[in-house]
Amino acid sequence: MFVIVKPTLACNARCTYCAAQHFNPKTPRMKSDVLQSLFQALPVWGEATGQMGQDTVHLLWHGGEPLLMGPRFFVQVLEETRKLRSSNPHLEIRHHLQTNLLLWNADFEEVFKELLGDRSLSSSVDPFDRSRRRLANGGDYFSLWLTQAQRALEAGFRVGAVCVVDDQVAQNPRRAYTFFKNLTARPSVRFNPLYPSRRGETVEGGISSAQWGRFLVELWQIWLEDHRELAVQPLANWYRARRHGTVRGSCDMSGRCSVGFLGVDPDGNVSQCGRAADGEVLHYGTLDNPTGCLESTDRQANQQRMRTLREGHCADCSWWAYCHGGCPLQSWLASGELDGPTFWCEGRKAFFEECLQTPENVEERGA
Ligand code: SF4
Ligand code: SF4
Repeated sequence: MFVIVKPTLACNARCTYCAAQHFNPKTPRMKSDVLQSLFQALPVWGEATGQMGQDTVHLLWHGGEPLLMGPRFFVQVLEETRKLRSSNPHLEIRHHLQTNLLLWNADFEEVFKELLGDRSLSSSVDPFDRSRRRLANGGDYFSLWLTQAQRALEAGFRVGAVCVVDDQVAQNPRRAYTFFKNLTARPSVRFNPLYPSRRGETVEGGISSAQWGRFLVELWQIWLEDHRELAVQPLANWYRARRHGTVRGSCDMSGRCSVGFLGVDPDGNVSQCGRAADGEVLHYGTLDNPTGCLESTDRQANQQRMRTLREGHCADCSWWAYCHGGCPLQSWLASGELDGPTFWCEGRKAFFEECLQTPENVEERGA
């Protein structure tokens, strides 16, 4: 089970497309008793997705900006983890962190060296148009991010970057690729298309499904020319899937959205994931009743969605194993229906057909 935890919705940056800013929890920061309830829920959720006697729960600390919780909060997370591991030897807990890094310091380094087993963390930075991502005080995000990413790197952490593909990035895939390749930290990078967080809203710089498809095709060509030197998602997952037949990867293409993901907000409300909480849909219950959350009718409806798509919209699609119909929220944003195909269907199909049509194509052009 992968649990996206938002211990706070507060943030020390102001990104023009941020979803979390819509949402106002009753408590701005997760309290101790809610954190304890979260750890009490984990054995139940781990068991629900366990395999061969081994239950694994991944906790992704997200926000808002999770480092605003301060190092002491994460020391408590570490203590709760140790307690749970000793009382549940079959339960494996792995931590992950999505942070803007702006508050990163020696105290965080100490606690995350133990919490993040593989010492990798994920952050966010945009290659151009610095006006989209600013500090809360109006200052320059990018310069501070560079300093902080370098610091994390020197302390032995690997830094991955999420890049939001707006209309400018979509028109300049080569420039975007080169930007990340030239960073000293040489991060792995995940390109995510920019879309609104709420139905009916428009977002400045948003792109169409066809633009996303064209961006993926061009990026793919640039990436292969460069012998796949940079770790680029979602391309690398699709490349591996085409060559080796195993589709892994993010929730929206894994086909495991409805069975393998949950989200928790600062008040202890449980929903499908962080994005669902941002959009205020697919709410499953509270931490007081972790089994009830798994059995909620909204969750069952999300599980039914896969069957509906396979028999309907996606029935004849050769790329089902690579896409699984995508994210229900991205269907809802486009059509108001949670059980439709992803808004990015057209763009994904165009990319799959142009770039993954035959395994030979992948092998000839790949390194
Ligand atoms: S609703 Fe979308 S973002 Fe949330 S877990 Fe499912 S696929 Fe991922
Ligand atoms: S590309 Fe479109 S039709 Fe094919 S599986 Fe994805 S959503 Fe369904």
